[in-house]
Amino acid sequence: MTQLAEVAPGILVRQSSFALTNTTVITGGRSQALVVDPGVTVEELVDLTRSMAVRGLRVAAGFSTHPHWDHVLWCGDLGAVARYAASRAVRIAQEERPGMVERLERSAAGHDLALFGYLTPLPAGSAEIPWDGPAAATITHSGHAPGHTALFLPDTGVLLAGDMLSDVEVPLLDLVESNPLADYRRGLERLAAVEGVRVLIPGHGHVGDADEFRRRVAADIRYLDDLEHGREIHDGRLTGAPEWLLRSHAAQVRHARHRE
Ligand SMILES: [Zn+2]
Repeated sequence: MTQLAEVAPGILVRQSSFALTNTTVITGGRSQALVVDPGVTVEELVDLTRSMAVRGLRVAAGFSTHPHWDHVLWCGDLGAVARYAASRAVRIAQEERPGMVERLERSAAGHDLALFGYLTPLPAGSAEIPWDGPAAATITHSGHAPGHTALFLPDTGVLLAGDMLSDVEVPLLDLVESNPLADYRRGLERLAAVEGVRVLIPGHGHVGDADEFRRRVAADIRYLDDLEHGREIHDGRLTGAPEWLLRSHAAQVRHARHRE
């Protein structure tokens, strides 16, 4: 378990022991905080609320970057506030709830299911999180999951990339969609086009600087190119990778071959 670390002024990150999952706490005026993707184990959420209390932070709202079980967690001590997500992500979290609960129970049992996965859609047409703290622009795109939404904080140059731009996971495509590779590329292009990124916070992996942001964009484009053209993939993120990641990678290779 790690503690909250300040990666940019007022932006705190806590990394879980589970798949290096990052929880981000964005602090604003009057000790308010926006909590993004709180996770992952019950103990870690208790620890997160304690660490926030020690700093005098009060949760104003939550945000889930996408409808995968490890990004839609919550606990009572975080408070009964709106937990925003893109409307498509909210819908998927409802539709796919049984499978998400099953995966949750397998990997991080003990959470209060009455709080798991219940999200509030962002107001229609809004391009920002509706809260009083630092501006947090939403970038919603397909590719990894329906309604996947990255946040960009222009004041600090922080990009919260959700499950994109990881240094420990290759691009993970949403293979149930009709055109997963093209979707992923478009999503990646949206993120790559963000100007002024100084700090990159991935959903899983290590926080990086501007150079690391560019390096990861390039690595992901290379992976997608190799996948699309049926070339052998030499990606450092697959070296010593956990079994589930190797399986996902193999499924993506099979899927890409099938389309030729
Ligand atoms: Zn995910």
